[in-house]
Amino acid sequence: MKCRWKHCKFGGEVDKDKAVQIGLSYFHPECYAERESIQKIIDTWHERVDAYPMEAMLRKMVNDLVLKQNVNAEFLLFALNYCLDHGWNLRHPAGLKAVSKDDKAHKAWDKKQNKKLGTKAATKITDEFRMDDTPFDFKPQKAVGFEDILR
Ligand SMILES: [Zn+2]
Repeated sequence: MKCRWKHCKFGGEVDKDKAVQIGLSYFHPECYAERESIQKIIDTWHERVDAYPMEAMLRKMVNDLVLKQNVNAEFLLFALNYCLDHGWNLRHPAGLKAVSKDDKAHKAWDKKQNKKLGTKAATKITDEFRMDDTPFDFKPQKAVGFEDILR
């Protein structure tokens, strides 16, 4: 099938059984996620920054970052919300570049990704334990279990 994301990075052909189908259109899952995230970045800008931005410039800025500079679109969406949550006063679409490079947003993103991977192995649990800002409410019986792992 033809991937309908016009900026497909995978050669434009997608297996039907691996594709995301929207109506009559097929997408690589990654392409669909990228397309959705780009749209959400623009929506977020409208909702939280400026309801009437210079639309063409906003789109160009997002496209440049995601499609030319390979900034992960899902990360950019996360970083935009993160920066706005942390008091950034964004006005101009060019500010997205600074958003995409923000160290704190990158760290928060990495942490979120690590959490997604899950914590099955005992070694991983001890790694989590070392993270100083991880909320860790010890219950007595849990504490015993934890010591057993460490022994
Ligand atoms: Zn694709």
